Amino acid sequence: MQAVKIRKIGNSLGVVIPKEVLARMKVGEGETLYFTDALDGSVRLTPVDEEFAAQMEQHFRQRLGRMRLTSTRHAYPLVGVYPRYFVAERFALVGDAAVGMHPVTAHGFNLGLLGQDLLSRAMLSARATGADIANPALLATYQRELRRATRPLYLATYAITRLYTDDRLPARVLRRAALAAGTGLRPLRRAMLHGLSQAGDSRSATFPLLGLLKAITR
Ligand SMILES: Cc1cc2nc3c(=O)[nH]c(=O)nc-3n(C[C@H](O)[C@H](O)[C@H](O)COP(=O)(O)OP(=O)(O)OC[C@H]3O[C@@H](n4cnc5c(N)ncnc54)[C@H](O)[C@@H]3O)c2cc1C
Repeated sequence: MQAVKIRKIGNSLGVVIPKEVLARMKVGEGETLYFTDALDGSVRLTPVDEEFAAQMEQHFRQRLGRMRLTSTRHAYPLVGVYPRYFVAERFALVGDAAVGMHPVTAHGFNLGLLGQDLLSRAMLSARATGADIANPALLATYQRELRRATRPLYLATYAITRLYTDDRLPARVLRRAALAAGTGLRPLRRAMLHGLSQAGDSRSATFPLLGLLKAITR
């Protein structure tokens, strides 16, 4: 971290950016810097990157043709969040508020539907017996079931994210091996398909490892 003091410059306030920071940002006199809002509420100062469009074209291997930047750039970090509790007094979390999956395994929406289904089933059965639809036992069961259904996948997704954002050689070798195993090994392919396309009663999803085992040994 590097601190700069806000000083009066004429009738305005300003800061002097240290030379080494400018060098790291690769900007010099006359160039423009942009303030962008980060997800955590902080404000970032970023340089305009003239080569941004070219870099994007290269990243997409020219598959999308010529690209051009048409707006300011904003960073939206893709993160996963998993709260300690899903419920409180007469209160339950669903969707991303409950299980904020990293999008890399494409499960956030599915798990959102799962949570809604588990909760609404529990509430409907409570109502059918005249019980309180937000009684603590019901909410505790919902929390337990949703945690059991989602925690293994959340942790697996976290591990995958770590692996695929690590550019060191062992990680690169491991992910190549994982991709080869995913396409070559049938049981693994079945396990992946199972993870992406479960149908039927949502309560069966509350035993994910059992379902996975069944899919592999089928
Ligand atoms: C890049 C990316 C790719 C994804 N791909 C997949 C995929 O392939 N498959 C999959 O299953 N899932 C995927 N997801 C996840 C999926 O989009 C989310 O899990 C899902 O949209 C969550 O739905 P939600 O209703 O819980 O939350 P959201 O869709 O985030 O809805 C919350 C809403 O609340 C509003 N809001 C927030 N704060 C307030 C407030 N204070 N007052 C009023 N309104 C407020 C927000 O504006 C928003 O409209 C992906 C997510 C991302 C980011």
